[in-house]
Amino acid sequence: MSQVLDGKAHADRMLEEVRQGVEARLAQGKRAPALAVVLVGDDPASHVYVRNKTAACAKVGIRSLEHRLAADTPQAALDALIDQLNADPGVDGILVQLPLPQGLDAKRALHRISPAKDVDGFHPVNQGLLLEGLPGLRPCTPTACMSLLAHHGVALKGLRAVVLGRSEIVGKPMALMLLEQHATVTIAHSRTKDLPAVCREADLLVAAVGRPGLVEGSWIKPGAVVVDVGINRVEDEALGAAIFAAEPKKLETLRAKGGVLCGDVRFGEAMAVASAVTPVPGGVGPLTIAGLLANTLAASNQDA
Ligand code: NAD
Repeated sequence: MSQVLDGKAHADRMLEEVRQGVEARLAQGKRAPALAVVLVGDDPASHVYVRNKTAACAKVGIRSLEHRLAADTPQAALDALIDQLNADPGVDGILVQLPLPQGLDAKRALHRISPAKDVDGFHPVNQGLLLEGLPGLRPCTPTACMSLLAHHGVALKGLRAVVLGRSEIVGKPMALMLLEQHATVTIAHSRTKDLPAVCREADLLVAAVGRPGLVEGSWIKPGAVVVDVGINRVEDEALGAAIFAAEPKKLETLRAKGGVLCGDVRFGEAMAVASAVTPVPGGVGPLTIAGLLANTLAASNQDA
């Protein structure tokens, strides 16, 4: 039976470090870091994420400044708000919650944020710094995954790592961070031939795809470490019966509640093969918010 890598416990450790960093700033007579969150429209999941981020900010002493805009906000008005936040010396970090409503260009908004305040690490300047291995604000989810792996003593040097998914938010930056730590990295994706065989080569498998239960136990090399970034809600009972065959409790929850959260990896099957696995929920999810707040603190200390 493999080890469950507890993301919640590690997120608490990361948040405690941020809290101490905020305290140190205050002790030097500086103001608390401030994170501006821009929420456009009524996407229910986005509202939940923003509420969680606000609550986490409160816990560590970061000021959270919410800017809510209507779903029919024109791009020019969103641009103007970002310009205003860029120019505001009382704002250290700016986060534009994705997805944006139809008609708004997310890339344009993200590229407009000042790189120094880009706490999501999505600006091309920050992505470029990461590519060059230079310090900058880095994407929160892969940064937090790296922190979790370091905490658990996963030795990355020379390791065969497979990153499943090539998004700018998770897959690509995760691959670059693993490469920086001297892993031998393969990026696999929807066009990869014989995905199970590629995954089976991995001593470290990171799944960031958004397909519930895509990774079966038979895709995992015995003893591998598995990081499951995917967050999916499954409501279909037939799909649930297939992917939760080794997790009867998940299937029960699905039947009782009409839906259940799961990752891209079949957790129950992975637990029988891997040496360590992150669960969903309670794995990478809580770490991402902790990474965001660490970035906000770092952004506020750029003036130090
Ligand atoms: P995305 O949709 O931008 O990218 C998905 C990637 O998976 C693509 O590169 C695509 O090539 C690949 N892919 C899609 N279908 C595939 C298949 N059948 N086989 C192999 N590869 C396939 O998604 P994203 O933003 O990178 O997010 C991925 C998942 O991670 C989602 O479930 C998302 O909700 C989750 N996520 C979680 C956190 C967190 O905090 N835990 C943060 C960000 C994203």
